[in-house]
Amino acid sequence: MAVPLSQMWTVARYVLGKKLRRVQRYPVVLMLEPLFRCNLACAGCGKIQYPGEILKRQLSLEECLRAVDECGAPIVSIPGGEPLLHPDIDRIVEGIVARRKYVYLCTNAILLKRELDRFMPSKYLTFSIHIDGEREEHDQAVCREGVYDVAVEATRAAIERGFRVTTNTTLFNTADPERVREMFDTLTDLGVEGMMVSPGYPYAKAPDQEHFLHRNETVGLFRRIFSTTKRRWRFNQSPLFLEFLKGNWHLECTPWGNPTYNIFGWQKPCYLLQEGYCETFQELLDTTDWDSYGCASGNPRCTDCMVHSGYEPTAVSETFGSLRGLMRTARLVLFGARPTQANGAVEGGSNGSHHKPPAAAALVELDSRAPATRLGGRN
Ligand code: SF4
Repeated sequence: MAVPLSQMWTVARYVLGKKLRRVQRYPVVLMLEPLFRCNLACAGCGKIQYPGEILKRQLSLEECLRAVDECGAPIVSIPGGEPLLHPDIDRIVEGIVARRKYVYLCTNAILLKRELDRFMPSKYLTFSIHIDGEREEHDQAVCREGVYDVAVEATRAAIERGFRVTTNTTLFNTADPERVREMFDTLTDLGVEGMMVSPGYPYAKAPDQEHFLHRNETVGLFRRIFSTTKRRWRFNQSPLFLEFLKGNWHLECTPWGNPTYNIFGWQKPCYLLQEGYCETFQELLDTTDWDSYGCASGNPRCTDCMVHSGYEPTAVSETFGSLRGLMRTARLVLFGARPTQANGAVEGGSNGSHHKPPAAAALVELDSRAPATRLGGRN
């Protein structure tokens, strides 16, 4: 199982509590960005294009912990920039762990091996290592040779020292399904607890604008990747989110489920778009026009987005907050997902209406004819 039972139980109890109290919008994962600066300059990144004076700034320990308390989400993800460049990152993590929140520290792992002594293994702390492919693909994605080997070595070292280690992979239209499956094998052999995959978001500021996936391309790619599956692969993400990426399950974006806090404040409406900032989390909830976002809204900036930060909280809420979602998840966990048909060219995509996108609808049909074979692990 890729996520420990104690973590699953914490999240399930939290979501059920919100549902019972009929809370309409609640956070599941806080995206805490303590800084934007990084020791890499990846072509698909939309976070490091700020001017130098912004890149020099960072949240203080107190600001980070205040945001964690204010938000109340049971999980805190620390992306960046590169969080290990923050001089107080160990104290930030320690403070969150002391609050019994589950922390995912996202890192490119260049500094990880050197910095491991600053952290204590805990069930509340996971290093989420950025790996975008096998050696050649990863080094190309991060625009620097040799980074893959450093990341793999650091991953091994962290696992040996007893830390929880997962990986996060962002895919673009250059991804080769066969090579992605090879990467799943490699990471599984390394002994990571779970893997997370997501399509990249078409950031307007990213240097590389050619290789972002459109919605129907994303569904086609994930169907090709999961046309063959292995029991031993473990995914650190909701089974319903993976089904969504394959076009087998309809989800709508719930951006309030993954709120972002950084040096500017609480970002409107999500981790990916910047439509202003709020001083408090409550202000973010109360003043954002949530109906203007998500694929169903017809907002062109959301049309092609299937990114985990928008849709994973929806998947989690459906899993623990609806009988249908729970039954489907239970079936996927117990019997595995069906391998998808490999014909990746899917016509349709989102039409921006309030109905299920045609690509997803067509693919549910395709899937119901696919043979039932078990996909390994939690998914
Ligand atoms: S669909 Fe994507 S870009 Fe739009 S609000 Fe949701 S997460 Fe943000």
